[in-house]
Amino acid sequence: MAVTGTLAERPQTPVMRSGSLTEKPSLVGLDRVALGEALRDKGVPDKQIKMRVAQIWNWIYVRGVSDFDHMANVSKDMREMLKTHFTIARPEIVEEQVSNDGTRKWLLRFPPRGAGRPVEVESVYIPEEGRGTLCISSQVGCTLTCSFCHTGTQKLVRNLTAEEILAQLLLARDRLGDFPDREIPVGTMMPSSDRKVTNVVMMGMGEPLYNFEEVKKALLIATDGDGLSLSKRRVTLSTSGVVPEIYRTGDEIGVMLAISLHAVRDELRDMLVPINKKYPLRDLIEACRNYPGLSNARRITFEYVMLKDVNDSLEDAKGLIQLLKGVPAKINLIPFNPWPGTNYQCSDWATIEKFADFINQAGYASPIRTPRGRDILAACGQLKSESERMRKTERMAFEAMMIAGHGEDDDD
Ligand code: SAH
Ligand code: SF4
Repeated sequence: MAVTGTLAERPQTPVMRSGSLTEKPSLVGLDRVALGEALRDKGVPDKQIKMRVAQIWNWIYVRGVSDFDHMANVSKDMREMLKTHFTIARPEIVEEQVSNDGTRKWLLRFPPRGAGRPVEVESVYIPEEGRGTLCISSQVGCTLTCSFCHTGTQKLVRNLTAEEILAQLLLARDRLGDFPDREIPVGTMMPSSDRKVTNVVMMGMGEPLYNFEEVKKALLIATDGDGLSLSKRRVTLSTSGVVPEIYRTGDEIGVMLAISLHAVRDELRDMLVPINKKYPLRDLIEACRNYPGLSNARRITFEYVMLKDVNDSLEDAKGLIQLLKGVPAKINLIPFNPWPGTNYQCSDWATIEKFADFINQAGYASPIRTPRGRDILAACGQLKSESERMRKTERMAFEAMMIAGHGEDDDD
């Protein structure tokens, strides 16, 4: 059963409550040029800009501070100026849940941007042997309507900004104690081997490639070597197949790619992943083949949700091998996570194993993704915003009908 509650508080991690969020522009999510411009606009002299940008960048992304007053080597006047005009506050944590398997889920509330209303977003942390993966969202809702996906039943509320995408990572690191303590002298780096969040996957709510510019800004900051320092090999962007932006992702972001494939024939994929009508399998696979930097050590992940009697036959498995010929690929089989109102069922376990064996024999790694955090509804395709979250009774009934997960996850 899920435990809902607050984890050990850390002093520099105030849990913000409604009303305390300022709507001043945030410095989080600005690249160095934009950060410099923001400072120059407020009267910081040209000759100081480079140094100030480096200091602030270090405080925000290496030290993880969310309060200007904690920027110890920034003068008091400068801190006052920053406080007057900007914010680096974290979003409000509406709910924090810890699953009995260690998975954690946060429901975060962001203040309105422009004329909009506040939005709520979920992110999920999955600890595993030797690594910890944070699953983050790129949009609230989704414009696409994949027929097996809960998010797909929800309209797009809005795109998240780079700040909001990064805030999910900063906040998870806060709550996991993954930033250096404030007492550690300026300039000390935390050894990456001690990190709790080692991997980031954009597999939460939304289609990241329909919010390309903000996702790009956020991921370039997350992988900046002088800041959050995630390796590009440990950041994976999952897309339903927005072909033109797959090329741009390779050229402009350079993170690892996951493709929500789910079907190997256009006729079926048109139904499951309707964007296939616009960018059919041929174009999608061609874009994958051309993804820069692919090798045996750097493969594209193809996600394949196992839907009973829909896409789980050995014919489908054969088709899959044929389709991926020549593409450095790993195949991630995802047991379908049911949600109230869906017409799909998860394939039987024996069928999933047969499917996996077939693919394995053809030489592909084909881990079956272990469903994690099911008791707190943290699994793929189950993230929702507050507007559509299940009521408690509905949720208890749903939890009761959930099946147990098995299998092994990928290990790189
Ligand atoms: N929009 C992007 C990323 C978010 S979805 C995309 O589609 O790739 C992350 C993954 O979860 C995708 O592979 C998606 O197809 C899968 N998914 C969605 N709903 C699911 C469900 N109910 N059960 C299992 N996987 C699901
Ligand atoms: Fe959107 Fe991805 Fe869900 Fe499809 S699977 S509806 S693209 S979030």
